[in-house]
Amino acid sequence: MSEKSIFTKIMEGEIPGDIQYEDDDCIVLKDISPQAPVHLLIIPRKPLVRIAEMSEADQPLIGKLLWIAKQMAAQFELEEGFRIVINNGPFGGESVPHLHVHLLGKRPLKWPPG
Ligand code: AMP
Repeated sequence: MSEKSIFTKIMEGEIPGDIQYEDDDCIVLKDISPQAPVHLLIIPRKPLVRIAEMSEADQPLIGKLLWIAKQMAAQFELEEGFRIVINNGPFGGESVPHLHVHLLGKRPLKWPPG
């Protein structure tokens, strides 16, 4: 078995994390290095590595992550808009090999991203 990700260690209470929500499928963490006034990570408990590694059977789980992102956007009052990002691989800017959805908001966000 491959080494536990930092996110799995947080889920299992081995290391601290600022958990905002959790259920049987996922947790929501405040990003430790926020890139916007609201920057949350929606993370499946299943240690899926990245979108490129997902299987057909993972489709409902990915849908659930987006559903929770939508709930969090409402809870954190992001009525003016927000951005959802999934980084994949080195060119995509991925730094933690455990799938996670970024939810960013509370400031205007530029496009295209860098
Ligand atoms: P990515 O670069 O898309 O893989 O995103 C990984 C994110 O995890 C980055 O935004 C990091 O700031 C964030 N991160 C890394 N370690 C922690 C941690 N211990 N708690 C919360 N967020 C973290």
